[in-house]
Amino acid sequence: MHPYLARCVVTGVVGVTLAVAGTALTPDTAIPSPSASPSVVAASNAPTVSANANFAITRVGAQPALRAATARSVAAQRASRSKARLRATRAASTWVWPVSSVSLGERFGASGGNWSSGQHTGQDFDGDTGDSVRAVTSGVVIFAESLGRRGIVVQLRHKGGIETWYCHLSKVDVAVGDTVTTGQRVGRIGTTGNVTGSHLHFELHTSPKVAVNPMPWFKRNGLGN
Ligand SMILES: [Zn+2]
Repeated sequence: MHPYLARCVVTGVVGVTLAVAGTALTPDTAIPSPSASPSVVAASNAPTVSANANFAITRVGAQPALRAATARSVAAQRASRSKARLRATRAASTWVWPVSSVSLGERFGASGGNWSSGQHTGQDFDGDTGDSVRAVTSGVVIFAESLGRRGIVVQLRHKGGIETWYCHLSKVDVAVGDTVTTGQRVGRIGTTGNVTGSHLHFELHTSPKVAVNPMPWFKRNGLGN
């Protein structure tokens, strides 16, 4: 430890010690009368300090108490921030994959003739007809019917305005307006629409007409690499 700091610590200890002695200075014993009994004089011998010194002692004594209160306050703030971070982490991790057994199929952005736009607008998940399709996070059902090449589609709107679309379904388990929880089954994998076999075509939209790669979103929410 640095010598200067060591000295500071010693000074602090002296302050505490004096403050303890100061607390023994009650009005009865601080100013012993000449006729006081020997026992009273003995008691008042310990704090042999002047009134000014007593004032100084009180102030010195208050500082450790203030420091302790400040330390408690800082600790409480840290604990509060830590809890907030934990809550944020939990909230952020309340995503699940849309299928229970994840096997990734065609990736987002792949190009080819299979897609009307020339590019794949979602991420495919392999699966068999009838497998459960789950809400990746809580939201509200905004669409649940056939939608052209995407076949039967369930669309959910989530916090922040993002949407998740579940396509080519064989069955729908929710209705428009329903509130769904994370992991709740919204339908079943199927082969409706423009497909070559059963799978889930999953889209993530940052606005109704803008599909983005969902994989970074899964990663951000604690899933995948
Ligand atoms: Zn697809």
